[in-house]
Amino acid sequence: MNPLYEYFGNIHIHTVYSDGAGHFEEVVGAAREAGLDYVFVTDHNVLVREEEEGYRHGVLTLVGQEVHDAMNPQPGNHLLCLGVHKDIISLSSHPQQWINAVNAQGALAILAHPIEACTELIPDDYSWRNWEVTGYQGIELWNYMSTFRPHATSKLKSILISYFPHWFTEGPLPQMLEKWDELLAERPVVAIGGTDVHAQVYQIGLIRRCFLPYVHCAQAVNTHILSQRPLCGPQGEGRLGFQHEHVRHDRQVILDALAAGHCWIGYDLAGPTQGFRFQAHNHNGETILGGSLAAPEAGQTIFRVSSPEKATIRLMRNGEVAHEVYANELWYESAEPGVYRVEVWKQRWGKLRGWIFSNPIYVVRSARDELRGGELRGANCATCYLPPANLQPATTLTFYADRCG
Ligand SMILES: [Zn+2]
Ligand SMILES: [Zn+2]
Repeated sequence: MNPLYEYFGNIHIHTVYSDGAGHFEEVVGAAREAGLDYVFVTDHNVLVREEEEGYRHGVLTLVGQEVHDAMNPQPGNHLLCLGVHKDIISLSSHPQQWINAVNAQGALAILAHPIEACTELIPDDYSWRNWEVTGYQGIELWNYMSTFRPHATSKLKSILISYFPHWFTEGPLPQMLEKWDELLAERPVVAIGGTDVHAQVYQIGLIRRCFLPYVHCAQAVNTHILSQRPLCGPQGEGRLGFQHEHVRHDRQVILDALAAGHCWIGYDLAGPTQGFRFQAHNHNGETILGGSLAAPEAGQTIFRVSSPEKATIRLMRNGEVAHEVYANELWYESAEPGVYRVEVWKQRWGKLRGWIFSNPIYVVRSARDELRGGELRGANCATCYLPPANLQPATTLTFYADRCG
């Protein structure tokens, strides 16, 4: 019997090693205050090696990088490289070469803020441009910084955003969700959330303010993972350094869960999203979010969604709403193959806010289709497509907070 362990953390963080304002200590302090299990620092075009990976004050601190071609006059094409141990940017200036290099290291290539909205005040567009690339594992479906760009239409509004960011937060950009559904029609693509926190101080007139500080971002958009393997955790001091076997193990647990799409994006500022679950079963087997099932030859696939609290739960199939309820749970039956994913919307601060965005469950026509998807997925296909071994019956999936010794 294998229980599932849930952890959550903050991905896409900038520090003083690129254009972020804070040191690792500040990032970790904020993460600790928010109760996070892990953070992923991703500075621009540098794989920070001055700071070791490992546990700091109980928080697993991981270091990746965000690469872009600084010489290209057209900005954009930012790639998050998670789990790399060798610098990627020094190898090439072409996005496809970066992705290949990330895959060669068995790490994850995630397209950062793939679509961004621009305003007159913020005209720079850092969207992804080379959509013909292949082999990347995922996209940053929700870049928290990008949330605010369409609202920053004047200096006054920018000041308002910096004081009341929650008023302006509604979820991933609708164009981004549309693009993800388009990509999912072709092959599995993992979605993660990133804060892109820089914590820089801006001066507008007489007002001087830190825009989205670390402590705020750590409580905002997080990526929650489910794993059959528990983290070893921070027991005892000194679990720092990649050579430490527990650090290597725990790092891999996080990376494997992300690669497999056993994760959801939680806007935890609107209420903790811990305990969310999305699972499906039919006579061919059962799986959780990120996994796949062969479509039943007879009978139905049964989907179950559990929300941490009563909210508007939408089950999407191939980009369309298949079923919607306002409840703690959603049950749905279908004989149809398709890409099924979940959005949970919550009433908060006067309107519906995007609260939870799950990775899909892929119901495929045949085992052969499934294999094709796995091949397309690239280096991490083995973990993506192995159905979780000995998964407990759908109704008994539980969250155990204990850790291994
Ligand atoms: Zn970027
Ligand atoms: Zn960034």
